[in-house]
Amino acid sequence: MSWLEEGWRHVWLPYAQMQTAPLPLPVARTEGSRIFLEDGWVLVDGIASWWTACHGYNHPHIQQAVRAQLERLPHVMFGGLGHEPAYRLATRLAKLMPDPLNRVFFTDSGSVAVEVAVKIAVQARLNRGERGRTKILAFTNGYHGDTLGTMAICDPEEGMHSLFAGLLPEHPVVPLPRDAASVVAFEACLEQHAGTLAAIIVEPLVQGAGGMVLHQPEVLKRLRAAADYYGLTLIFDEIFTGFGRTGTMFAFQQAGVVPDIITLSKALTGGTLPLAATIASDELFAAFLSDSPATALMHGPTFMANALGCAAANASLDLFETEPRLDQAAAISAALAAGLEPCRGLPGVKDVRVLGAIGVVELHAIADPAALRMALVAEGVWIRPFRNILYLTPALTIGAEELAILCGAICKVLKK
Ligand SMILES: *Cc1c(COP(=O)(O)O)cnc(C)c1O
Repeated sequence: MSWLEEGWRHVWLPYAQMQTAPLPLPVARTEGSRIFLEDGWVLVDGIASWWTACHGYNHPHIQQAVRAQLERLPHVMFGGLGHEPAYRLATRLAKLMPDPLNRVFFTDSGSVAVEVAVKIAVQARLNRGERGRTKILAFTNGYHGDTLGTMAICDPEEGMHSLFAGLLPEHPVVPLPRDAASVVAFEACLEQHAGTLAAIIVEPLVQGAGGMVLHQPEVLKRLRAAADYYGLTLIFDEIFTGFGRTGTMFAFQQAGVVPDIITLSKALTGGTLPLAATIASDELFAAFLSDSPATALMHGPTFMANALGCAAANASLDLFETEPRLDQAAAISAALAAGLEPCRGLPGVKDVRVLGAIGVVELHAIADPAALRMALVAEGVWIRPFRNILYLTPALTIGAEELAILCGAICKVLKK
């Protein structure tokens, strides 16, 4: 594999200590829920490539749509020029959302979609002449991206707030209000910062990259009530939870709570191309309307609304309409609950939990994540342990047998 050894001297990997990072597994091709390595070894994929490949890899309907779009129009700038895939996608996304969420801003990554959400929340106030409200209330264990603006609203430890002090803006971060003590702390924080807050941001129902930490829908109701009381914009970051992952098309539906902004990415294109969307309410959009260019939303990534990405996203939405993805998510949920339950009693296991098509085995600690990962690879599965958890977020199209292989491999490796 000369490309790997040669490129290894030049590539910088994500979240990796490059001095000790092992060579990645060279992938030759993908199909469905399988990853085929160059050496012939085949892995059942437990992660769907960071939760993106919701229909499995190489879905023919998405491939066909991207191919056709590539022939016609791969990309044109979005300022002043329009194309059907983006305008159709905006219409379809708005139709999937509850009524006040009607305005779609396209970007090219989840982090940037969150940056835009924050910018909308803050600039809407500036446009209305309300100055000094630039703070975002965020939560511990939260994750909203790796750019500087989003790091500042991640969990303080994960977002390296003290290490990067001086570079990052400072926002109040508190535990989610899920019990008596955290409710008191949350309300005290609101009282203290009420005059400077613009918004509250949360990943609804499950904080993903922060450790797959679940919370009840009531927590989201509480956030909505607080946002209403203090006049704050409520942002639901559904980049992980969107598109069936929690069992409903979007997580907010399980709480019966409508936020003012929703961010989407990850599974938006079915795992084929980078694309993200920030969907804002009519009221927020109206705050940008005036006779002056000064109140316009000042944002515009070069590759925003890329036509290939939008074609893939439209094809992905077709599949949600024509194939029983939510039924599949329910079946996965039951299989994960049954398949991971045997782990519960094992030494070192702290918790086993399932929500929708997310299965989590939380350990007290993982001493050597790389060794654990390789033990799982030897069992023929691709699962990436992080922090102190092993989790499964498979494609919603995964077969029952493949799911059994994933759960069995986790149980087997943890027994050793
Ligand atoms: C992954 C993720 C992001 C960041 O998306 P990128 O495309 O990696 O920038 C933001 N929010 C949540 C909830 C995510 O899971």
